[in-house]
Amino acid sequence: MLILTGKPVSDGIGIGPLALFRRAKVSTEVRPVSDREAELARFREARDSAAGQLQALYARALETVGEEDAAIFEIHQMMLEDDEYTEGVENRIKDGLNAEAAVEQTAQELAAIFRHMDDEYMRGRAADVTDVSRRVEQILCGASPMDASAYDKVILAADDLAAEEIMHLDAKKILGVVLSAGSASSHTAILIRNLGIPAVFGVGESMIGEPEGQMAAVDGGSGKVVLNPDAATLTEMQEKQSRFQKDREELEMVRGQESVTRDGQKIEIYANAGHLADLPGVVDNDAEGIGLFRSEFIYLESDDYPTEEEQFSIYKKVLEAMPDKRVIIRTLDIGADKKADYFKLEPEDNPALGLRAIRICLTRPELFKTQLRALCRASVYGKLAVMFPMIISVEEVRKAKAMLWEARKELLSEGVPVADAIETGIMIETPAAALISGELAKEVDFFSIGTNDLTQYTLAIDRQQTNLDAFFDAHHPAVLRLIEMTVQNAHEAGIWVGICGELGADLSLTATFLRMGVDELSVAAAGVLPLRAKVRSLDMQTSEKK
Ligand code: PEP
Ligand code: MG
Repeated sequence: MLILTGKPVSDGIGIGPLALFRRAKVSTEVRPVSDREAELARFREARDSAAGQLQALYARALETVGEEDAAIFEIHQMMLEDDEYTEGVENRIKDGLNAEAAVEQTAQELAAIFRHMDDEYMRGRAADVTDVSRRVEQILCGASPMDASAYDKVILAADDLAAEEIMHLDAKKILGVVLSAGSASSHTAILIRNLGIPAVFGVGESMIGEPEGQMAAVDGGSGKVVLNPDAATLTEMQEKQSRFQKDREELEMVRGQESVTRDGQKIEIYANAGHLADLPGVVDNDAEGIGLFRSEFIYLESDDYPTEEEQFSIYKKVLEAMPDKRVIIRTLDIGADKKADYFKLEPEDNPALGLRAIRICLTRPELFKTQLRALCRASVYGKLAVMFPMIISVEEVRKAKAMLWEARKELLSEGVPVADAIETGIMIETPAAALISGELAKEVDFFSIGTNDLTQYTLAIDRQQTNLDAFFDAHHPAVLRLIEMTVQNAHEAGIWVGICGELGADLSLTATFLRMGVDELSVAAAGVLPLRAKVRSLDMQTSEKK
């Protein structure tokens, strides 16, 4: 038995066999081939094996997500069988190229053709041809594909995980996550919390050498991980798991209840989400709205810029999942730790202080316009609010809003319906925004305070850094004062203000936020009911001031 201690990142107990996360290493470099016939056979075998994987994925997706969403795997199978694709690869191999390079070059050529087509749907196929080719390349290179089915009911262990790697996992099959490194305020941590998977980060490198398949127990509330537990420890962890589940069941009592203190102060409790897979959790946990939909994860899941059509269909689904409830979709917040290769962003010395979020959108208006059109088109399917991230000036807000209204006007002139009212808001996640929140409040309908970045930028502590924990103080008075100042300025201007950073879920601050007058808290779905229970237990007349 080995006990490891790390940072508690996502509450809950997970018990199951340990599996190490494997990254698919793919090389598509050109290398000499002596036997072209053998190389052709190698390609055909890989293609058939990829088709088999896709068939299995299609069958599984049919059961879990339905026909419409499963169709993508069928489209990928069809691409593999397409003559143009197969001949493109085979002719290159016949000319002397190795299979990996032949697949890559064919994929790039076809993707470029698709990308330049007039038809929106056909442009979307560029990403598919890249995806399907990546699958074949992985098989050719002998790399296990990042296929969710590879991890079934396991405790997943890795050195660290990137946000986009989490996106490729099937959350229902991951019982717990243990990372040897990792920061509790990273997007990886946020995604894992949104998915409700128990997790401990920063347990040290020794874990990576541990044999797979041994029993592991993860206590995401205390930060303890036990490998190969003895009988007594296993029973103890199982009992704790039952207690945790029982506590969750008790929280059912606040389902459907108002989020109101004993002396009548109300607050709205929303949930954060990052992709469609989070929606069942948001609905199940009785969230009163979506306070932050991180749209950048749509971009991170793609191999190319998501089209207007693709984005529209996702935003529409998000709004339809929350009828009559406010859904705040944040525009693209890419950059810093959220990177997609196809953006081809220049390397930066300080990416957290670099070209990210609204800065990218305002410098690449065509990219922003696509998203804004998709959002406007989806607006008729629910109660949409659009929120702009990383704002530092009034000019940025005005420019972003002008582009939103331009997209709206354009659509209306094309005869496409757009909702009459779309609320607009900004994130307050820089000290600059908090300090000029009085001016900013005149421009928008609401603020949402992003305490993750606000803390990072106020304390000058990189949220990705794993070795600054000793200096990190989530309750630092400077951060709390900036929050209070923002709330006061918002209310003076007559707009409402929420918190969508991770601090919103910190139950030791709930009374403080209520006292400041925060109108809404948006937390990971699993945090909604505990937070409502906390609010309902408070009496602001008697609760101690902090
Ligand atoms: C924040 O900064 O608090 C926030 C909610 O945005 P993100 O965590 O995605 O940067
Ligand atoms: Mg942020």
